[in-house]
Amino acid sequence: MTDCIFCKIRDGVIAKDFVYQDSDVMVFPDIHPIKPVHLLIIPKKHVKDIMSVDEKLMFKLTKVVSKMIAQEKLGDKGYRIAINGGGAQVVNHLHLHLVGPLGKAVSM
Ligand code: AMP
Ligand code: ZN
Repeated sequence: MTDCIFCKIRDGVIAKDFVYQDSDVMVFPDIHPIKPVHLLIIPKKHVKDIMSVDEKLMFKLTKVVSKMIAQEKLGDKGYRIAINGGGAQVVNHLHLHLVGPLGKAVSM
């Protein structure tokens, strides 16, 4: 998608250092972090939202989230994984937020 910021990052039109990437997934820090670790886990393919992602790709995204939890040593420090959608999202290219460290979630 030509007007999609995450597609532009994938294509190198907007320069970005990836924390991780493979053939299907890219990960980089959120530009406005809300916690010391705030990563975006993103399919390279332009998938609009969670309603339109296929099972195999979603599984791969969750595997990369696990890898990032280990890499960032968040395993016992508290973390949250969030997906905005249905109009709550700003960027219309599926992405998972991984944020931490956090205490126990008392509210969303
Ligand atoms: P959402 O509200 O779930 O669509 O979140 C989109 C996220 O993308 C926000 O947290 C933004 O701070 C982040 N974001 C937007 N542009 C960039 C960028 N160029 N690099 C890194 N993060 C970005
Ligand atoms: Zn896109």
